Amino acid sequence: MESITFKDVDSNVPIDLNVILADQYETRDIHKVKVFVAILKDKKSISPAIRSLAKLFPIPKDLIHLKRVRNNQQSDTNEIIICKECETSVDQIERKLANSIDYTDLKIVSVPNGPPFNRWQFEKASKLWPVNFFENKEITQRLDGTCISLNDRWTIDSIMRDLVKRSMENNYRDFGAIVDSNFNVLVICGDHIDRHPLRHCPMNLIDLISSLQGGGSWYKKDNQENQSIDGPLSLIMTTDHDPDAYLCTGYDVYLTREPCIMCSMGLLHSRIKRIFFLEEQIKSTTRLKDGCPNDLALSRMKLHTNPDINHRFDVWRVKLKNDC
Ligand SMILES: [Zn+2]
Repeated sequence: MESITFKDVDSNVPIDLNVILADQYETRDIHKVKVFVAILKDKKSISPAIRSLAKLFPIPKDLIHLKRVRNNQQSDTNEIIICKECETSVDQIERKLANSIDYTDLKIVSVPNGPPFNRWQFEKASKLWPVNFFENKEITQRLDGTCISLNDRWTIDSIMRDLVKRSMENNYRDFGAIVDSNFNVLVICGDHIDRHPLRHCPMNLIDLISSLQGGGSWYKKDNQENQSIDGPLSLIMTTDHDPDAYLCTGYDVYLTREPCIMCSMGLLHSRIKRIFFLEEQIKSTTRLKDGCPNDLALSRMKLHTNPDINHRFDVWRVKLKNDC
């Protein structure tokens, strides 16, 4: 798969941010299919040919992204798509087209087999045959990185570097933070797999947020008088929050490790808005067991792009450019 090289918004910014989208959006690649094309006799033949072919060879649903006619600038001829090569033979086409359209020849041409999902695919597809393209600006801005401003990148960088520092100071434990839409850090937490095997960092974070809202399983509201619950491992940075909020609705999570399937599902159910995780995990030579297992739930399985899930969230890989 030929990946898109994401635009570097500013070379001075100390992080690279790469969005993870469904495969069809992330690639420049396009697939091709062969079709029969008739070379029309002259320009006047175009309209009658389109009308005739609408009855004789209606364009199949999977090719409606293609414009029916193109002007071949190299040969200065007008060409019209008849049908897919695999669907019929030259003899049958010639019989059907006789006395219906004015054409000089038939040929086989490779055309894009599906609609373009991004601008890069559109440009590539258009070189083969004219295609319809309705650009999804939100997708484009995620792909080229322009949906996150320079200022926000600096803030994301400082939050992530703080988590990396905490991780290194705490035996390379996974660390994470939940942050509101104004970049206020609400809670910070490390994993607690030494206490319970399911206490991965994201699960602790969700539970901490839940405790602020009167819930919580491992953390209870009674414990919050002291904002440092587990020493440096679980911190409530502010109790100033919307009491009617539902878990992580509208919040972002920052993680030093890609969340596993369990934690990704937990974050999905918590209604998280965006996940930022470190692309290159911090190497530990002393810790025997990691928090989240390395199951690549987001970067390879792309769980968040599954059409059957009932909440959408963005996922970004964060690469710190300079060593911490
Ligand atoms: Zn996990």
